[in-house]
Amino acid sequence: MMHAEFPLADTNWEPTREFWAGAAREQLLITRCDMCGRYVWYPEPPCRYCGGTRLSWTRVSGRGTLFSWSVLHHAWIPQFAEQLPFVSGLVALAEDPAVRVVSYIVDCPIESLRCDMPVCVVFRPLRFAGVASSVVAPMFVTER
Ligand SMILES: [Zn+2]
Repeated sequence: MMHAEFPLADTNWEPTREFWAGAAREQLLITRCDMCGRYVWYPEPPCRYCGGTRLSWTRVSGRGTLFSWSVLHHAWIPQFAEQLPFVSGLVALAEDPAVRVVSYIVDCPIESLRCDMPVCVVFRPLRFAGVASSVVAPMFVTER
């Protein structure tokens, strides 16, 4: 269900509440299986490797590589219009490249993006026109 501050993330939604709480403390948190120890993302049991039903939020380094990306030039949702163009990227985490996190790739000329380039997390407020509040979100910058 859409909440009042859409398209801001709903930081109280149970499955991702800890993720957003971590971001507010500038920590990137990913779930890890209590039984086999592997990272499991999206944060929803069961573990796809061993079937374990308990996942624990674990802080990761925030380092990774750019797996893929899209440059958005069209606002499919009107609230995104002010941000155009922007880059939505898929980042393979250093701890386990099979874990790929979707977020904004920021502070980088679009034409300089390359597959597998090293990136690291930064924490920035997500803001949208017409929405009063903001949410701190993990985004990625290319490493220099
Ligand atoms: Zn497992």
